[in-house]
Amino acid sequence: MEVNELIREAAKKLETPFLVLDIEQVKKNYIRLKNSMKKVDIFYAVKANSHIEILKALRDLGSSFDVASVGEIDKLLSIGVSPKRMSFGNPIKKEKDIEYAWKLGIEYFSVDSEMEVEKVARRAPGAKVYARIATSSNDSDWPLSGKFGTDIDHVISILKWANRNGLVPYGISFHVGSQSYNKYKWQEAILEASVVFNKLMKNGIELKMLNLGGGIPVKHTKPIPTVEEIGEVVDESIQEYLWKHKDLMIITEPGRSMVGDAGILVSKVILKSRKGAKQWVYLDVGVFHGLMETIENFQYEIQVEGKSYDKTGVFTLAGPTCDSVDTIYEDILLPADIDYEDIVYFINAGAYTVEYGSSFNGIEPPKVYTIDELKELIK
Ligand SMILES: *Cc1c(COP(=O)(O)O)cnc(C)c1O
Repeated sequence: MEVNELIREAAKKLETPFLVLDIEQVKKNYIRLKNSMKKVDIFYAVKANSHIEILKALRDLGSSFDVASVGEIDKLLSIGVSPKRMSFGNPIKKEKDIEYAWKLGIEYFSVDSEMEVEKVARRAPGAKVYARIATSSNDSDWPLSGKFGTDIDHVISILKWANRNGLVPYGISFHVGSQSYNKYKWQEAILEASVVFNKLMKNGIELKMLNLGGGIPVKHTKPIPTVEEIGEVVDESIQEYLWKHKDLMIITEPGRSMVGDAGILVSKVILKSRKGAKQWVYLDVGVFHGLMETIENFQYEIQVEGKSYDKTGVFTLAGPTCDSVDTIYEDILLPADIDYEDIVYFINAGAYTVEYGSSFNGIEPPKVYTIDELKELIK
């Protein structure tokens, strides 16, 4: 998404910070993914951005949803999404939330441990469960390994345990790591999943579902594989490794790639100063107000209104709170003449930004405006 005249004008007229959301871009992303993976059902990972207009647009396009909590479930219910179109993809659930989801009619539950299987068996007897294999998340900017998923042998025994506990061992999921740069990560993961499929088949358990997780990247500062390229690898890998398993339900859970390039975060410089030899620039957004992912050095493209990168300087960019963790980037290049009250844009910041926004230090999280709302506001 690009900074256009409307956003420029809004940046001058309205109080910053705010995130501009282009709902049309979300729709385009959905349709493009659907066309790139024709046999795959899309379950939008709500945690990337749960703005109600995003959820409504995806609901209307026929999307399903990957949910992680009662809060996300209730938000979808409030706009009339059927629980049949939800999957409880968090392998760390409260028992009472499992029961809540099951009673509503949610059918699919993620597990990656024996204890989670037992919790689901107690509260959602007969539910379909899918187990998560751990993948190496190298080549991604935001790894989701370690905390989630487990090795192949363990996944097999977890699904057998589910079977013995009266659940339906239904499928395998993985996540290649969020913002993955390597399309062959999907191939690697599908190959590993196929080992589980085949071993369980020998044990009389026929899995029905492959869940490709998320991980599709958004354009920031490095080249990325396209959705079409990833779709091709996925298609070929399924044909090559899973041909024995007919009528598979294949799903994907895009978060970042549905909304990342549908947002621009608009902020302002509130201080420029020198500390020793270092130049510091402070903004009215920071780690606690939308830029959480920068703590792992996630790189956004940054534009400064009216200033060019022809002549650059080295700066440390920080947020407004009284906490030194609230440092966005150390030693990055910015236009050398960046100054007080300059408008600073974080491009393609629609995913995992406002969703993390806190009110730490009494500073409100960025407001969120759709393009339509923005047009109204600056009329
Ligand atoms: C966060 C998450 C996703 C979305 O991942 P992206 O990289 O944002 O596409 C998908 N599935 C699960 C289970 C997740 O936790």
